[in-house]
Order: sequence, then C-alpha cells, then structure tokens
Amino acid sequence: MRLRSHYNLHKAFPRYESRRYVTVNTLDLTLAKEKACKHFRAHAHEYQRAFRQYATRRYKCKPSAVRFAPIDESLHRIRAAVLDPKSEDCYGWTEGQTIYVSSALPMAFEQLVGTLLHEELHCFCRVRGRYLSADSEHHCMRVVGEEC
Ligand SMILES: [Zn+2]
Repeated sequence: MRLRSHYNLHKAFPRYESRRYVTVNTLDLTLAKEKACKHFRAHAHEYQRAFRQYATRRYKCKPSAVRFAPIDESLHRIRAAVLDPKSEDCYGWTEGQTIYVSSALPMAFEQLVGTLLHEELHCFCRVRGRYLSADSEHHCMRVVGEEC
C-alpha cells in the first residue's frame, strides 16, 4: 500500500479512486493516521458546521447545545486507532473511545484514511450530552462528501 503522490487534501473526505486493495498492516495504518489527522485538522470546522446545522434542525435546539470534542482529542483518538483482525463485516468500528480498523478486509489507502475519519466522526459530536444516531451521523458524513 503506497502513498499516492497526488493525494487530495482539499476535499473534506478522500476520494476512493484507487483500485489497489490490500490487507492493512501496521505501517499502512501509521501512514493513514498521519493523513487522517491532517485531513481532520484541515476540515474540522467544515465537519462541525455540517453536524451543527443538521442537529439544530433535527432536534430543534440552539447551536450551543451541539458540542464537539476538542480537536486534540479527535486527533489523539485517530492516532490511537488499532487493527482488528476479527472485523470481517465492517472496515472500521468504534465504541466511542477506541477506533478499530479491520485488518481482515482488503482496502485502498484512501479508504483506510476515510475509515479513520468516518469512525472519528462517530465520536466527536454530542447534542445535549448525547451522540446522534448512527444514521444521522452518516447523513452528515455524506453532506461533507463521503462516498458511499
Ligand atoms: Zn459508520
């Protein structure tokens, strides 16, 4: 899994255009964490705007009721992601603390970066102290440009 020289940081989510799918190893994960952190830092406000806009409409609450984890906490969670060899039905998952990335399913590098971002976006937003539903979070991810 080699890093693409024309990797696009400008979009809020990486484009999944590579056709080279490989089983993720520790080195891939380390490289992807760095990309995902750069990506998250560059687009955090865009993510927040999308989630806040959705949540204030959906829950009819004030913008101040929508809270986000500090960016450092998000970056820390991305950097602390671990491989999960048992995850055979999803690319990544999280219980809200640790991000797990499948080392059982082959994926492309952009997809790996996207998986880290995706899982962090399940962890970073709360409305009146509670997480949104996974469906709502997925909706917001599509708003910022995640490909299905
Ligand atoms: Zn998800």
